[in-house]
Amino acid sequence: MKRKGILIVVSGFSGAGKGTLMKELLKRYDNYALSVSMTTREPREGEKDGVSYFFVDKETFERSIAADGLIEYASYCGNYYGTPREYVEKCLDAGKDVILEIEIQGALKVKEKFPEALLLFVMPPDAEELKRRLEGRGTESAEVIRKRLERACEEAEGIENYEYLIINDDLEECVREMHDIIGAARRNPARNRRLIADMRSGLEAIVKGE
Ligand code: 5GP
Repeated sequence: MKRKGILIVVSGFSGAGKGTLMKELLKRYDNYALSVSMTTREPREGEKDGVSYFFVDKETFERSIAADGLIEYASYCGNYYGTPREYVEKCLDAGKDVILEIEIQGALKVKEKFPEALLLFVMPPDAEELKRRLEGRGTESAEVIRKRLERACEEAEGIENYEYLIINDDLEECVREMHDIIGAARRNPARNRRLIADMRSGLEAIVKGE
C-alpha cells in the first residue's frame, strides 16, 4: 500500500528566506507539494493570485472559516492567513509530503490537530542579518518592517515548540539539510504506526503458525 505523505510545517521570521528555500526544495525533489494559502493582505508586486496566495476579501475568508474549509487560520499584522483543507488532504492521500509555510499560531493549531506533523523553524544566522534582509527586500514600508520585527520578537518566544531549527545561511546547504531532516523524521516510529502494527500482527501470525 502507498504510504501517506507527512505534513511539514515551516515557520520562521518574516525575511528569514523561507520563500526562496521552499522554491529550491521543490525544484530539486519531487516528493513535496506546497500548499497555497488564502489571505486578505494585498498582493505584493509580482505576486500572482493562486500561485503566491489566493487573495480574497475579508467576507470570502470568513465564509471559508464558517464552512470548515481551512485546516487552520490566524491573524498576522492585521490580515487573515489560512490553509485551505482540500488540496492538503488530497496531496497527503496521494503520498506527497505537504509543506505549509505558516506563522506560529497556525503552526501550533496544526500540531494540535495533527500530532504527527513535523514542525521546522527557519532562522537567519543572527538578528542583524534579519533586519538587513527585510530592508533589502525593498517591498515594504519602514512601518511594516518595524511591525514585522516586533512580531519576530514575539515569535522568538515560541521557537521551542518546533522539532528542528533550520539556519538559513548558505542556501545550497540549507536545502540539503532540510531534505535530510525530513527524511529522518519520516522514520520516526510515531509517523509509522501502520507499519509497526502490520509488523506486530505479521510476527504474531508467524509465531502462532498461521
Ligand atoms: P507574508 O505576508 O510575508 O506573505 O506572510 C506573513 C506571515 O504569514 C508569514 O509568517 C507566513 O508564513 C504566514 N502565513 C502564510 N500563509 C499562512 C497560512 O495559511 N496560515 C498561517 N497561520 N500563516 C500563514
